[in-house]
Amino acid sequence: ASITLESGLKISLPAHAPKGVFMDIGVIAAAPAFLAASGFGDCVCSSVCQVDWWMSHRLLDSFYDDGPYLLMAEDEKDVFAKAAGIRAGNPDAIGSLVRLLMLSGLGVAITGVSNHGSMGEHQISHYIDCFAHQRHPGTLHGEQVGVATLTVGRIQQGLLGRSDPPVMQPTRIDEADMQRRMGPLIAGQCLTEYRKKTLDQAGAERLNTRLATIWPELQRECAAMIRSVDEMKALLEQAGAPTSAADLGLDVDFYREAVNHAHEMRNRYSFTDIACNAGVLADFAAREA
Ligand SMILES: [Zn+2]
Repeated sequence: ASITLESGLKISLPAHAPKGVFMDIGVIAAAPAFLAASGFGDCVCSSVCQVDWWMSHRLLDSFYDDGPYLLMAEDEKDVFAKAAGIRAGNPDAIGSLVRLLMLSGLGVAITGVSNHGSMGEHQISHYIDCFAHQRHPGTLHGEQVGVATLTVGRIQQGLLGRSDPPVMQPTRIDEADMQRRMGPLIAGQCLTEYRKKTLDQAGAERLNTRLATIWPELQRECAAMIRSVDEMKALLEQAGAPTSAADLGLDVDFYREAVNHAHEMRNRYSFTDIACNAGVLADFAAREA
């Protein structure tokens, strides 16, 4: 479950799965459209999550399980085909959407982790929720996730589209800057997580060797999982969901800060981490508007 600690930091903690979930589709379908669009935004991220999770497995030999994706595949196609119906509050489309969201939750029960539906893009949304304070426009989790999905998709597809693998450098941790942005308490909590994945010289060399060995394979494997940014953007638009920081009403400088620093919050290794270690994350962030 996604839990907010007393410090204000959002993290994932183990929780019991419910015995059952009961929903009144009529009530949900009659809710304001931005609420359903937010649920849709939280679904669109799956291919971006899969690419991040698969890459971290191939680079770090960490745990990966495609079970949740197999479980969701048919329902996902159905929901994406009904994106316009979700905007219109069509009960059939809304029913499909909440079923897919439940299946994603069931994926957590299968794997014991939420990685299949929460990688670099969720970290950007968490960063907004934890650190925007008075700059927070009041947008919802799923609305932010939808926008961040396009951002991380651009980073993934930008890096994977290069013929040569990114060259990793050791991580430079700016503790004073983290404290300034996050406050000392949360900065300390984030540092503990961040240090689990930061690279020293030997770590960077190890990943460079691995990347040089598997790069063409990794490009092929990820190509089979990728949904193009244009396609994801079109789906969000059909569902009436925001697709940019400007759409969210979020200060663009703060959004770029979130893109640059969200990976410091959690130990999951994302393409945003690769971009950071390769020294190109700030370039990607600067293109966000
Ligand atoms: Zn989510």
